[in-house]
Parts: sequence; C-alpha cells; structure tokens
Amino acid sequence: MKLKVPEHIRSIPLYVPGKPIEEVERERGIQDSIKLASNENPLGPSPKALDALQRTLASVHRYPDSAGYELIGKLAARHRLEPGQIVLGNGSDEIISMLARAFLQPGDEVIMPQPSFQMYEIETRAAAAVPVPVPLNHFRTDLAAMAERLTARTRVVFVNTPHNPTGSLVTRPELEAFMARLPEGVVLALDEAYIEFVRDPAGPDSLDYVRAGRPVVGLRTFSKAYGLAGLRIGYGIMPVDVAEVLSRVRPPFNVNLPAQAAAAAALDDAAFLNETLRVVHAGVDYLQRALADLGLVCQPTQSNFIMVRVPGEGRQFFASLLDRGVIVRPLASYGFADCIRVSVGRPEENQRFVEALRQVLAL
Ligand SMILES: *Cc1c(COP(=O)(O)O)cnc(C)c1O
Repeated sequence: MKLKVPEHIRSIPLYVPGKPIEEVERERGIQDSIKLASNENPLGPSPKALDALQRTLASVHRYPDSAGYELIGKLAARHRLEPGQIVLGNGSDEIISMLARAFLQPGDEVIMPQPSFQMYEIETRAAAAVPVPVPLNHFRTDLAAMAERLTARTRVVFVNTPHNPTGSLVTRPELEAFMARLPEGVVLALDEAYIEFVRDPAGPDSLDYVRAGRPVVGLRTFSKAYGLAGLRIGYGIMPVDVAEVLSRVRPPFNVNLPAQAAAAAALDDAAFLNETLRVVHAGVDYLQRALADLGLVCQPTQSNFIMVRVPGEGRQFFASLLDRGVIVRPLASYGFADCIRVSVGRPEENQRFVEALRQVLAL
C-alpha cells in the first residue's frame, strides 16, 4: 500500500513485549509453561481488587468517572498530596505518552538512559522529537553524563529507578546533583514502576521532590507490586501546573471503570502488598544464591527481576529455556546479547527455572 507515513513515525522501533504463555504453548506444542518474562506479580491480583472488580461488572454500561474522584482521593491521602497533583493513566505508559504530547515539539530533545524502557523512545519519536540516549555506566544510569547532554532544546528527561532491566538504583545525591543542573522548564520524569520492591535506603522517592515543588513527575503503576497489569492503570504525581498541562491531552475516559475500582481496593489491601514483597524478596535472595551456585553472574537488583549473564547467545539460551516451558526475557534488544532477565516467581516457579537452567547449562 502506498501510505504517506511521516519519517519520524517510520523511525519508531517496534515494541518487543514478553511472550504470552498461550503463544509459547501453541508454537512449541507444550503445556504447563511458566512465565517469568514481564515482571508481573507472582501471586496474581489482590483478592480485594478481584471483589471490587466483580462488583463493577454490572455497571460497565456507564462511562467511568473521568475525574477518577475516589481513586485520586485515596492516592492523595496516601501520598499526602493534593488531588490536583495526581493524573491517572491507562498504565503509566499513558503518562509517558501524555508527557510527550504535552511538552514536545518537533526537534525538541529528550534525554534517556541507554538501554531503558522502550516507551520513552517510542513516544519521543511519535512527537517528532529527538531521543538523546546516554549509555549506562557499569549497569547504572549515568546522571553525570546525562547532565552533560542538557541543551537549550531539552524538554524532558527520563530516569528509571530501579532501572529495568538492570535492577540498579540512582542515589538521592546523584539525582539532586543532576536536578541542580536542570534548566528552567525541563521536566524530569522519574519512572518508579518498581519502587515498592526497593530495599536499599539510598534510593530516591519522587514524592519528596514533588512535595517540594520541583519540576518532577513520578510515574507509578498498579501493574507490578499491585498485580493489575491486565487492567492497565497507573498514575503520575507532579506539581499542579504540570498536571494542568497533562489534563489538556488526557483522553477523558482513559482509565476504565473496573480498573479504577480494582486499583482503589488494591491500594487498601496492605496484607496483599506485604505478602507480595515478602515472596518477591525471598525469591530474589533464593535466585541470587542459586544462580551463583551455578556459576552464573547476575546484577544486584532492587526490583522483582534479575539480569543474568549466560554462556553463549542470550537468545539461544532463552530458546532452550522455552523448550523446557520456562519463559524469560532475552535482552539482545536492550543491547545485552549475552544476558537474560528473569522475573521473580512463586517459590515453585523459581525452583523450576533453576532446574531448567541446570539442564541447559549441562548441554
Ligand atoms: C512495567 C514498567 C512500567 C509500567 O507500565 P504500565 O503501563 O504501568 O503497565 C513502566 N516503566 C517500566 C520501566 C516498566 O518496566
């Protein structure tokens, strides 16, 4: 077909999602696979969220509350913010999209670590703006190098902490030194999709900066620790002026009714969150020991996934694990051709992953 597609759209790399279990089983003719590929909650959704979800089903002929009154109220109380400082998104992905649509013009620059979450580059390019990728330094976001790349055209900076896929943190002093160099009008987006899992007290929290009136947007999600990835709901916390700008580009009914209800209930389910953190932290500790015992090198992680260096090609290793019904993530598309990323599962899933590793290593 002869389509007139703008060059900046043609330049967008296709997003590579984790493989769904059904697809793997169909392709390989296998059953009982486990998916440790997308950093999802190994315990499933919170039971309270499921109850709330059930209760909304009879009302889905209604549009959702565009203002997200109940959920935003709960989030504001939880975080000690004004409701006007919170914007809901169809996943935190959508907050990234709103930032790009609201702040970027063709030719503007967006600084981001390389590699990092692919949505930063996709949304930057979709806005005809220019991604400025800055390589990691020893698997950590290099804020000093990123500061060197600030120009008069910089509009947005993305920092992801803990970083996906390495699991590394930036520290508060590093971030504050970077913020001191931010020119007026530049927005710093802090993607905190995994912040609930952090155990190291050196890590920053966007709330501190938002409360202090800094030009910071914290990106939070219900997809990981809260177990609601399939419902698509996340939010941004930010100064009121920034929220006001994002509201202009936010689709009015972007977050559906069941998602709003489930998220509000999940937020109140402290027992579920605590159990999730307990299982994930125990799983991280178990996997790190088991991987070391197998002679594999893995990155320290502050998240619910681990990046592991494997012998040979990561893609080949990934395929060998797939043959054994274990779905992980190859990291070649992130520039780590000899690595895979494994999400922490339930204890029996972690054991099955380790057993599959043992078999593949023995080949
Ligand atoms: C999973 C993830 C998100 C969350 O995306 P949602 O759209 O909220 O599901 C955001 N950033 C990073 C780095 C992630 O890994």
